[in-house]
Amino acid sequence: MTDKFTQSKLDRCISCGYCLPACPTYQLTGDEQSSPRGRITLMRALQDGKMPFSEGLEQSSLCLGCRACEPVCPAGVEYGVLLEEWREISWQGKNRPLIVRGLFEAVKSTWRVRSMGLVSPTARERKSDPNLNLMMGCFERVLFPKVSRTVARIAPELSITKNQGCCGALHAHNGELERGKEMAKELGDKLPGTILTTAGGCAAHLAAVLGNERVNEFSQWWSAQEKLLKPIEKNGKKIRIGFQDSCHLRNGLGIFKQPREILKSLGDYVEIPDASGCCGAAGSYSLLQRKNSRKIIAKKIEDIRDLNLDYVITVNPGCTRQLATTLRRSRVKTRVLHIAQLIEMAVS
Ligand code: SF4
Ligand code: SF4
Repeated sequence: MTDKFTQSKLDRCISCGYCLPACPTYQLTGDEQSSPRGRITLMRALQDGKMPFSEGLEQSSLCLGCRACEPVCPAGVEYGVLLEEWREISWQGKNRPLIVRGLFEAVKSTWRVRSMGLVSPTARERKSDPNLNLMMGCFERVLFPKVSRTVARIAPELSITKNQGCCGALHAHNGELERGKEMAKELGDKLPGTILTTAGGCAAHLAAVLGNERVNEFSQWWSAQEKLLKPIEKNGKKIRIGFQDSCHLRNGLGIFKQPREILKSLGDYVEIPDASGCCGAAGSYSLLQRKNSRKIIAKKIEDIRDLNLDYVITVNPGCTRQLATTLRRSRVKTRVLHIAQLIEMAVS
């Protein structure tokens, strides 16, 4: 554990405020303290010892960690790294939320993660290209096991091993930054060559630790394969499809064109207003900050209702869960699927 922020990263912020309109929690509260600039000011006060770390807890928790403040920042502030450092300093001992402790416990070892996949069967082990390995994801195994089974069917070149642990993104984002990095390295040792992941959040974390050249997110990889797809129809018409970005995939790795290009070839693609904006899932956020999470997704749900979409497509299990449960609760009939599941409908 570190006891300070990286000073050079704090120093980059020039307090221009360009990031404020991009920040969902600033939009929600209108409060400077809930903006990226406000939080960096707070971090500087903590760094300089002008304030105890306990006083920064509220803002470190209210932040989604969506990194929408990064692409709009003219000074190149790595806000996501600063937030990880902040939580590593602050979210220790009794300040670590109970839910986070429970999640850490669930993915503590490889056998535990592996046993999570037994609840509902994921893709079977197989040896194909030894240098192209599917990462199974820990929570995706439990919540959406169909995703890995689908990817296994449509991409036979992928090797699949079940002997995988968690990639450590959960840890890095929730106060265990160093452990999160170690876990990514351990997974990198187990899966040689390119690691292909169906989760945008995991892709960004793995790429930050192992390097971009070792990691491919599924839609990024698929779009480079140039496999032919036929448009999908429903009642004689092309399906209407919307897309929700994964924050870390878009803001961390700059991947947002590839999934849209794929979807445009599959049906009538409609851009959801603020598709790039966080859906409020944000890793553990929807569990820790329920009320705010629901406020953040509310407008998006109404937009999806108005667009009368057949499908909203995602590239991250947290987004799938958040959208599916909220659309169901709001009685909107639009189905939520991972992009691989829609692709399978076009290839079969
Ligand atoms: S984080 Fe970037 S955009 Fe925001 S105030 Fe600092 S320098 Fe400006
Ligand atoms: S990570 Fe998201 S919520 Fe947090 S300061 Fe940046 S834009 Fe705002």
